[in-house]
Amino acid sequence: MSAANKVTVIDTRRGLTPHAFDRAGAGASDPAIAAHLAALLDKAKDRDAHGILELALTGEFAGKTAVVSSFGAESAVLLKLVADIDPGTPVLFLNTGKLFGETLRYRDRLQDVLGLGDVRSLAPSLEARLNADPEGTLWSRDTDACCNFRKTIPLQKALQPFSAQVTGRKRFQTRERADMQPVEYFEGRYRFNPLWQWDLAHLEAFTEEHKLPRHPLVEDGYPSIGCMPCTRRVQAGEDYRAGRWSGLDKDECGIHLTDGGGI
Ligand code: SF4
Repeated sequence: MSAANKVTVIDTRRGLTPHAFDRAGAGASDPAIAAHLAALLDKAKDRDAHGILELALTGEFAGKTAVVSSFGAESAVLLKLVADIDPGTPVLFLNTGKLFGETLRYRDRLQDVLGLGDVRSLAPSLEARLNADPEGTLWSRDTDACCNFRKTIPLQKALQPFSAQVTGRKRFQTRERADMQPVEYFEGRYRFNPLWQWDLAHLEAFTEEHKLPRHPLVEDGYPSIGCMPCTRRVQAGEDYRAGRWSGLDKDECGIHLTDGGGI
């Protein structure tokens, strides 16, 4: 079975830890969904990132797909590709209340430069925040619970009207993402990963070629950027995501992993 024909399934019954596995031709228990997924994978396998995005944003998914972006260090690449196809595509941004001010300003700058017409900032409700984290320090005691109410639940609500989502995830980023496929089925909708095979050199070349604005914290030593309390500078020789949840056995917030789990 070639890598392009594998189907990655996230089994939501197996807890917060990601357990991605490959099954030939079947990505969901519903045979119709499995067949649809296999057909989408077949269409995606020989396409580049632009081609996969056309699959996600036009034709059967026109008006039914949202892009999820953290407006982090590499986000400009995916957003540029999206804007070239349809700048009115809904872009969901998780404003957790714990982000760097630089990220919020970068969001505004990219929105302006790329002409993104529908950037939606998501946040937990006031009630949820007062219940789960009245002091605003939950991140220091339980990062999974903090990511859950600040990211996972708001994103699940915002995705409800959509049949598909697009992410900027790449295979090289984490162990859990190493088997990622260009199209998956996750939490009731199709998920497209147009940059699945891109590496840092490819991202850099695209950024340079298109003169895309860079997140201001990258040159300050932050190659991967999340919430302020859970992101530190990376030292020379460290993995580029070593600054995310440093010291914890955690390298995903959970929005891409499981139902109800905790970028
Ligand atoms: S990354 Fe840290 S601060 Fe942000 S939601 Fe998760 S635990 Fe909370």
